[in-house]
Amino acid sequence: MLLSRFPRVSLAHLPTPLEPLPRLSEHLGGPTIWVKRDDCTGLATGGNKTRKLEYVMADALEHGADTVITVGAVQSNHVRQTAAACCKLGLRCEVLLEHRVADPSASYTASGNVLLDRLFGANLREYPGGTDFDKAMADVADEVRDAGGEPYIVPGGASNRIGALGYVNCALETMAQANERGLVIDHWVSATGSAGTHAGLIVGLKAMHAGIPLLGIGVNAPREEQESKVFDLAVETADYLGAPGVVERGDVVANCDYVGPGYGVPTDGMNEAVLKLARLEGLLFDPVYSGKALAGLIDLIRKGAFADASNVLFLHTGGSAALFAYADQLELDI
Ligand SMILES: *Cc1c(COP(=O)(O)O)cnc(C)c1O
Repeated sequence: MLLSRFPRVSLAHLPTPLEPLPRLSEHLGGPTIWVKRDDCTGLATGGNKTRKLEYVMADALEHGADTVITVGAVQSNHVRQTAAACCKLGLRCEVLLEHRVADPSASYTASGNVLLDRLFGANLREYPGGTDFDKAMADVADEVRDAGGEPYIVPGGASNRIGALGYVNCALETMAQANERGLVIDHWVSATGSAGTHAGLIVGLKAMHAGIPLLGIGVNAPREEQESKVFDLAVETADYLGAPGVVERGDVVANCDYVGPGYGVPTDGMNEAVLKLARLEGLLFDPVYSGKALAGLIDLIRKGAFADASNVLFLHTGGSAALFAYADQLELDI
């Protein structure tokens, strides 16, 4: 696996730290929990999209693009990181925001990631939930071309075979860190949404024969749908990388029991997890992705799911900018 074959621009602060969470581990009385700090990738408050954008934006530049078009929910961390990357690379950014959450509050529509998108000068266009975004983005691309520009479409979450290379790279980086400090990781847990993170990690882990089971905790789709989406992208990514066949369907495991009423809708478990990590470890997690994934991790540890494990690694995918958008939905007095 030689990732340096693929064009890449430098956007992230790497390697991100790998740290233990001793107070949370003690509190739960289970395995030692470690966190891979991809909330510290650096670009515009960080997060997991920055690793993917290192490869995707390089491809945009190779295609001679001057305008990047992308899509996300109103409080999309992906859109915020893409808008910042465009500024750094001198590209225009056209954003299609999907209203996925019903009855949004004033802070949901104006603060958090939206505030930062506007700060970065992205052109925001708003669409109702369920819009056909392949078509909508193609329409915006036509508009850009008609005005003499050169558009490049980045899919939601930068989750295609190019973006997933960023998480193959994360798997390599993390194994090097674990090897250096003699750390045996028994399980790896991550949020899984648009699938690029989960797919890239599983390709990297399998190609290295790391022998570490990876569990994705879903934030949106039901289990079967999520696993299929991740598997399809993992197969494409492995082929692209020149490592066909490294991932089998059984390697892709998701638990989608912690979504609650829907994408971006707070749950009690998420609320508890966000407060616990803040108060035990001084860490910020977000209400939509990492907070729900942590709620899953905490619940699974309480149920003894990792009873045989000494070390469980949790990927911190970032997202704390969204906390401000949820200011009036978090219960802090518990
Ligand atoms: C996008 C995102 C995820 C999910 O990653 P995917 O690659 O889309 O599956 C998890 N956490 C945060 C904070 C995110 O912004």
